[in-house]
Amino acid sequence: PDNKIVIGRFAPSPTGPLHLGSLVAALGSYLIAKKAGGLWLLRMEDLDLPRVIPGIADDMLATLEKLGFRWDGEVLYQSRRIEYYRAAAEQLQQRGLAYACGCTRSEIAQIASAPHEDGLVYPGLCRDGLAPEKVERALRVKVYDEVISFDDGIMGRYSQHLTASCGDFVIHRADGPYAYHLAVVVDDAASGVNQVVRGSDLLASTPRQIYLQRIFNLPTPSYFHLPLVTGPDGAKLSKRDNAVSIAAGRDLEREGGRLLFAALRFLGQLPPPELQDAAATEVLEWGVDHLDVSAIPRTPAPFIYP
Ligand code: GLU
Repeated sequence: PDNKIVIGRFAPSPTGPLHLGSLVAALGSYLIAKKAGGLWLLRMEDLDLPRVIPGIADDMLATLEKLGFRWDGEVLYQSRRIEYYRAAAEQLQQRGLAYACGCTRSEIAQIASAPHEDGLVYPGLCRDGLAPEKVERALRVKVYDEVISFDDGIMGRYSQHLTASCGDFVIHRADGPYAYHLAVVVDDAASGVNQVVRGSDLLASTPRQIYLQRIFNLPTPSYFHLPLVTGPDGAKLSKRDNAVSIAAGRDLEREGGRLLFAALRFLGQLPPPELQDAAATEVLEWGVDHLDVSAIPRTPAPFIYP
């Protein structure tokens, strides 16, 4: 129904400090939720423990606070929610929708039809049972021959044929964490999230998440994928660039407003020049009052910080 309150969220992975890409995701998700009078939740995606850097989650929260962001409710930590992911994975197995796979990466690479943008298309070798000589390496969810489409609030209509673009995908690794796709779907539903705003590096993973929502009989949120931040030359930001904290070498108490002003411009908004020297909270307020989602560009661009 139309009178349902909007619940948005920001879900960073504490594998590095808050960088320009995550600043854009924080601001975009905050503005789109608050413009609708909604709530803005915060979730730490700290499942992939070997990649999580101790202290980074607190550092991110402190940076967000200095920038004037206030989240609703308690921060959710994925590392404390493993039992829910386990229950979801078990349910899929019991329903015959997930199966143990014993293929190694190189075995898959030898027979996979084509590489997909984030991996190989799994050809379904273990679908009918693990070969006797194989050990279980991962749990995969079965996908069917169907096209999943959705209307993104920024990028427009997006469709993906799951069998052709990823095949049966991993929801748990025997020696590792539950997969991001499973955790996101379980957590967004548990928190009542009905609006997902994030970087467009995740656009292509959205159909897999919608697929999981459907098999769990969960509602699908509305989606908004924000343009990616590139380097000054237009090239993709490297891991190293992404590792550069927006707080490094900057007095955020003083410069936070200027940084948010630049982030608003990156999102296609046109704040008045005098706002450049305003406090962070004032810039955020302006953004909520004046946000024009239709002005958010679709194409990747450098982040220009005067
Ligand atoms: N944790 C993911 C990231 O930092 C974002 C997940 C999401 O917003 O769905 O890229």
